[in-house]
Amino acid sequence: MGSYLGYRCSACGYEEAQMGVGSGRQADPVLVLFHCDECKSVGSTWKSEGQESRCSYCYHPGIQILDIETRNIDCPKCGEPAEFYPQEGEWE
Ligand SMILES: [Zn+2]
Ligand SMILES: [Zn+2]
Repeated sequence: MGSYLGYRCSACGYEEAQMGVGSGRQADPVLVLFHCDECKSVGSTWKSEGQESRCSYCYHPGIQILDIETRNIDCPKCGEPAEFYPQEGEWE
């Protein structure tokens, strides 16, 4: 089952409250965390074998996929250190 993460930067207030990660009933596709330089955001997007993942906000293809265990990355808006945190709930 997949889970949810949030992301918050206390320096500039940038926040993504709910991002699904992991996989549901099937192992592929899987929801992964990404960092997009194009629109300066973090989020989650579908990753499927043999397909290019795109930013779920601006559809830019050149996104940086983050390891599922990533918890600390610099804020894409202001560059200060910020964290992903676990959210309640599961999805399948
Ligand atoms: Zn920030
Ligand atoms: Zn983007």
